[in-house]
Amino acid sequence: MTSFRREFPLPDTEWPPTREFWAAAARGELALPRCDACRRWRWYPDATCRFCGSASSTWTAVSGRARLFSWSVVRRAFIPQLAADVPYVAGLVAIEEDPAVRIVTRIVDCEPAVLRIDLPVRVVFRPLRFAGVRGEVTAPMFVPE
Ligand SMILES: [Zn+2]
Repeated sequence: MTSFRREFPLPDTEWPPTREFWAAAARGELALPRCDACRRWRWYPDATCRFCGSASSTWTAVSGRARLFSWSVVRRAFIPQLAADVPYVAGLVAIEEDPAVRIVTRIVDCEPAVLRIDLPVRVVFRPLRFAGVRGEVTAPMFVPE
């Protein structure tokens, strides 16, 4: 495994708060931290649980099923590294296990016209890569069911 620091805008897969998220994605799993005390999902990752205050959590795989909460079709690249990607769909999906847990992602393999609120979607894992940027990161993205 390479250990060079990821170039912007690739995510830093070694940053401790989200390192397990990226490691799970590389294995083809969507994993989120779950509180060991109250069992609620702790997303975004935080040092302590916002529900019960526990400092203990475990990265736990979820089903990968979710519903579309919101999205935006990005047609203009605001940074040059995204120029080759537009248009793309930036989305916010609510996971099946707890709809209050929403993940920022991309919606792929569909025409934006099919998108609607609460559309069932499921996770897929795709390489995140950018023109002129060395390396790639496997990232969870979502497709309509
Ligand atoms: Zn808790």
